[in-house]
Amino acid sequence: MTKIAVLGTGRMGGAIAHRLLACGHPVTVWNRTPSRTEAVRRAGAHVAASPAEAVAGVEVAVTMLADPAAVDAVLFGPDGAAAALAPGTCLVEMSTIGPAAVRALAGRLPEGVHLVDAPVGGSVTAAAAGRLRVLAGGPTAAVERVAPVLAALGAVRHLGATGSGAAAKLVLNAALLVGVVGVADALTVARAVGVDRDTALDLLDAGPLGAAVPRATAADADFPVTLAHKDLGLVLDELAGVDAPVVRAARAALAAASDPTADIATLTTPEQP
Ligand code: NAP
Repeated sequence: MTKIAVLGTGRMGGAIAHRLLACGHPVTVWNRTPSRTEAVRRAGAHVAASPAEAVAGVEVAVTMLADPAAVDAVLFGPDGAAAALAPGTCLVEMSTIGPAAVRALAGRLPEGVHLVDAPVGGSVTAAAAGRLRVLAGGPTAAVERVAPVLAALGAVRHLGATGSGAAAKLVLNAALLVGVVGVADALTVARAVGVDRDTALDLLDAGPLGAAVPRATAADADFPVTLAHKDLGLVLDELAGVDAPVVRAARAALAAASDPTADIATLTTPEQP
């Protein structure tokens, strides 16, 4: 068993901490809002008072935070985790922050601390059940060292050097979100031309957007529109002058969503009058 710290017990970090505890690992957690550690404390986690305290004595530290600013604050802010990571520790960065932020982070860690970027595909239900798709980037030796921990969370794919997992995650989410917005638009067309929702979904399921239909109608996922909007911002930031007009349009659709806190599947449900 591996001594693990999980920094960030939001939707995904909380589910990941629960899963690691269920697999028998000793887990210490920290979260900016302490009340969000309560469920995982009851499940057996030790709760630390600061990021630095959480990583003391652990072999693996996981960050699962909202965005690049949150990762920066938790690692390098007051009582930040980075300076407290002992040589030989592996930091597994699982948030969706994009490859630029991961590479910047790699250059700021103390000597002897290993970094694996490991963002995930799949939402909270998949995390709780160990059915995520883990997209890993980093030196082979570091990825192999944390592989048993990551394998508890789902299927691990090693994409290449540091930042390659974060890069692959942006490719996946660009396609996922364009697909979900595409299904939402097709349903808008269906309503306009008088095709009922169930028939339209049945037809779409067998067409080119078929793979997006289950996610666009999922009831057991909790990936809010705000985080999806953040992800497409990261995608566009990486493009450096190249345009991706459909991604840009999908991001505009997310910005216009009526409830930014709701799961992205709500994009496909008509607004109530
Ligand atoms: P969430 O529930 O909103 O949790 C976000 C976490 O980040 C919380 O622990 C929050 O702390 C923390 N945080 C935010 N700003 C912070 C700051 N300035 N300083 C310290 N902590 C800060 O989000 P989530 O759904 O778990 O997503 C986490 C990451 O996984 C995101 O990068 C997301 O894009 C990615 N992801 C999400 C899903 C999904 O289905 N939800 C799926 C795949 C990947 P507080 O509790 O104090 O706010």
